[in-house]
Amino acid sequence: MVHAKWESYLAEAIKRCNRCPLHESRTNPVPGEGNPNASLMFVGEGPGADEDRMGRPFVGRAGKRLDLWITDYLGMKRSDVYIANTVKCRPPGNRVPTDSEMAMCFPYLLAQISFIKPKVIVALGKTAAQDLLGFPKATSLKLLRADNPYRRNGYYVVVTYHPAAILRNASYESAVREDLIIAKKLLEVG
Ligand code: SF4
Repeated sequence: MVHAKWESYLAEAIKRCNRCPLHESRTNPVPGEGNPNASLMFVGEGPGADEDRMGRPFVGRAGKRLDLWITDYLGMKRSDVYIANTVKCRPPGNRVPTDSEMAMCFPYLLAQISFIKPKVIVALGKTAAQDLLGFPKATSLKLLRADNPYRRNGYYVVVTYHPAAILRNASYESAVREDLIIAKKLLEVG
């Protein structure tokens, strides 16, 4: 994969980053990957065990489900989109990142968004939605999804379930399909 200059710069900064305690337990940072000119970006919560081991986002079982969503619901390839997380280092035991960890890491996500300039960002799960939209942590995913899509500075945000949630409860799958159809329509109208 060819990396844009900003990606290499950002990856280097993240590799050296010790802004929050998550740097202490990471094996590899997981900056994100994909098409640097993508019109569609996915943002998840944080790296899991497989991602931490490989230094790549969404490569475990949840990642395989995300790959299926990209092909089946959006008619795209994984290499067409950009995939990142709210925090770039794995929270121990896959716990939810704290507000402070997310705030410390947010400038990296913001930099990715400003370089990629996506038309649509799909927030995978409540943590990503909270990070991107600034809602309090207590806001339920059901409530967040009800107001899809959100208009932000130059892009839309569509909130849906995290693929790991679907692995635990397959009944959410139809909701994901609905959300990704919204994202697809937004991409089509430009
Ligand atoms: S999670 Fe983000 S802010 Fe924290 S150490 Fe890793 S790169 Fe730095």
